[in-house]
Amino acid sequence: MLDDMLDYLEHLREQPVWQPIPQEARDLFRQPLASEPLDLAAAHDTFMQNVLPYAVGNAHPGFMGWVHGGGTPVGMLAEMLAAGLNANLGGRDQMPIEVERQVVQWVRELFGFPESASGLFVTGTSMANLISVLIARTAVFGSSVRQSGIAAGQRLTAYTSASAHVSIAQAMDIAGIGTDFLRMIPVNDQYQMDVDALERAIAADRKAGMTPFFIAGTAGTVDVGAIDPLAALAEVAHREGIWFHIDGAYGALAMLAPDIAPRLRGIERADSIAFDFHKWGQVPYDAGFVLVRDGALHHSTFASPAAYLKREARGMAAGSPWPCDFGPDLSRGFRALKTWFTIKVYGSEKLGRVISNTCALAQYLKQRIEATPLLELLAPVSLNIVCFRYRCEDADRVNADIVVALQESGIAAPSTTTIDGHLAIRAAIVNHRTNASDIDALISATIKFGEAHTAHGQTS
Ligand SMILES: *Cc1c(COP(=O)(O)O)cnc(C)c1O
Repeated sequence: MLDDMLDYLEHLREQPVWQPIPQEARDLFRQPLASEPLDLAAAHDTFMQNVLPYAVGNAHPGFMGWVHGGGTPVGMLAEMLAAGLNANLGGRDQMPIEVERQVVQWVRELFGFPESASGLFVTGTSMANLISVLIARTAVFGSSVRQSGIAAGQRLTAYTSASAHVSIAQAMDIAGIGTDFLRMIPVNDQYQMDVDALERAIAADRKAGMTPFFIAGTAGTVDVGAIDPLAALAEVAHREGIWFHIDGAYGALAMLAPDIAPRLRGIERADSIAFDFHKWGQVPYDAGFVLVRDGALHHSTFASPAAYLKREARGMAAGSPWPCDFGPDLSRGFRALKTWFTIKVYGSEKLGRVISNTCALAQYLKQRIEATPLLELLAPVSLNIVCFRYRCEDADRVNADIVVALQESGIAAPSTTTIDGHLAIRAAIVNHRTNASDIDALISATIKFGEAHTAHGQTS
């Protein structure tokens, strides 16, 4: 199994990024519950033949869809160790939790947070955003809100940009505050939150008797990779006494890249930061993280006095507070181990260079688009995301077809988004394996499929 996976990773480039799933493969996984044992080698073979070739392909250098990390062999091996150990990181006095605490300490250091800040591995930024909304709610009402709920007539309002990720709205929904009370603040021509519009929205809500409680800036928006003016947002939040959260799902780790980190100025003033090691950090899925400045408030939002979790000063039930006191999960896997291995074995400098390099590749793609009359850039390139299209009649339809053709060809796998009402081909370069040849392949295949689709359109 190890040989097969190492071979897979070594020879990714010779394989298609993605390929449609044959019906036989799906059928193999629509069988009734098996009572008889299957030979391990046969199960492995089923995986090799029917699962591995038909994954989404984000380990592949040609994968540029959404914002998915590439993973590494080191992360893979660490996952094997973690699975063998089968540690449950909900709590108790065990070294695996010390590994998680080590990563928490590194994260504090990276973002310039105090020793009293808390951190927790979670599934992903969606969960980290939700946890942050809940802590901000506790900041307004005190931890008694956990028993009393939010009283009728008390209206919390939150603010994020129109380009924010949908998980911010989802957090408002799940927290019971309601998406109607999330203000989607317009963006400027760089797709950053308009700070004047934010201030006006807060003033209008206060006037209407609402309680503004949460500002979520984004460091690296999903559509175009914009970074909100974080320092200005920190200023507004501080002046207004509002929790300042940053959704830095992929962008926050640009703190590791000396050429990009200065653009995140203001991140060190956040009350909470949500981000993913599984995107730009190249740690295998899943490895989300939430960092909270006020660790005591974080603890008071989630800690439960349930008797069966009684803590002791010695023995296995020592080591309180436990990770389960900082989030909704009791049983938790050892996400920290693959993260620790990735950071230790590659080093933070090298991980930072990967981030810089993907941004440089995005600039290269931008230049190639600008030098190609058949192509048109649709948004500024701030970090590692490039939105463009093939110029033609009926461009939305043709470009959607081009993206499907690219994906089905296995050459390159961008996704689509909508920019100012236009369908865009969106290339998010996240993977450490991607290089200039993959960018060139994307350009030439886009032109090839663009020509094919428009020629077809003319004759029909
Ligand atoms: C990916 C992403 C999310 C969601 O993160 P998950 O790890 O998928 O839960 C949230 N916000 C932004 C800006 C993202 O890029």
